[in-house]
Amino acid sequence: MTEPLISAANLAKHFDVGGGGIFRGGRPSKLRAVDDVALSIMPGETLGLVGESGCGKSTLGRLLIRLLDPTAGSIRFQGQEITGLGRAAMREFRRSMQIIFQDPYGALNPRMAVEDIIAEPLVIHGTKSSVERRQQVTEMLDRVGLPRRALDRFPHEFSGGQRQRIGIARALILRPRFVVCDEAVSALDVSVQAQIVNLLQDLQRDMGLTYLFIAHDLSVVRHISDRVAVMYLGKIVEVAEKRVIYNDPQHPYTRALIAAVPAPHPSRRSRGKRENIAGDIPSALNPPSGCRFHTRCPHVMPICKDVAPPLTQTQAGHQVACHLMTQA
Ligand code: SF4
Repeated sequence: MTEPLISAANLAKHFDVGGGGIFRGGRPSKLRAVDDVALSIMPGETLGLVGESGCGKSTLGRLLIRLLDPTAGSIRFQGQEITGLGRAAMREFRRSMQIIFQDPYGALNPRMAVEDIIAEPLVIHGTKSSVERRQQVTEMLDRVGLPRRALDRFPHEFSGGQRQRIGIARALILRPRFVVCDEAVSALDVSVQAQIVNLLQDLQRDMGLTYLFIAHDLSVVRHISDRVAVMYLGKIVEVAEKRVIYNDPQHPYTRALIAAVPAPHPSRRSRGKRENIAGDIPSALNPPSGCRFHTRCPHVMPICKDVAPPLTQTQAGHQVACHLMTQA
């Protein structure tokens, strides 16, 4: 069986907050953005990562490519442990791991011409001559569907969709293997979203890319993903093939998320049990004990308040973290 391109085990990221400034005299706390997460992504696969705002999706994406240092746990890339690597040792891996951000305008230096923006990673990483750099940048412009006259222009001269194409070109210029798409289409109009999603799929096929596709729009995730992981308050609560997640979700939180997706046609509606949940996601500063979903779960049982359910395989390729799976 093929090895995962990237995998994580017991991964955690806790941020220190409070205890100073206007909180002077207050006690510092830990914000548990990601807690004890395990996942793996196979070469050429797209893993969708969904959950409400603030559930830790973006933090997890940044941890995997070591833009953030984990508090605990392990990350393996192409079979190598990269968790403890320093800046110099990470340099070679950085070529292979890139990120596409939500806000293409904020991610692009407004004072740099498009050619320099896209070529900058080549300059940072390499030995390429200016002639080679221009050749690679123009090839990448072609791939992302931008005209060559874009080379000398500046980010403010482009639409949102075109700016995201520039961001994608910059992310892919080093020919990475793994790309985190962090809400990469969320800020775009619906029609432009479809164009960018199709572009990402074409690029994946042509360049052999592997994606972690982070989004809160489950319709977009359904379109692009092979498998989907559902995250709640810093933990993965369900992982399965897309078809299973959308048609037969098992975790009460997943069921609620899927039930909230408007179905364009009755035949596309989920056949799984539907759930409704109330209230907002609790603070990651003080997450609920036991199952973190127990304050909102319509099926909460006494055990749920004390014991965190482990992510357990219920059938091949389907993992769920819920006591209902073992109490049935
Ligand atoms: Fe609900 Fe309990 Fe399952 Fe958590 S473990 S999702 S509270 S039934």
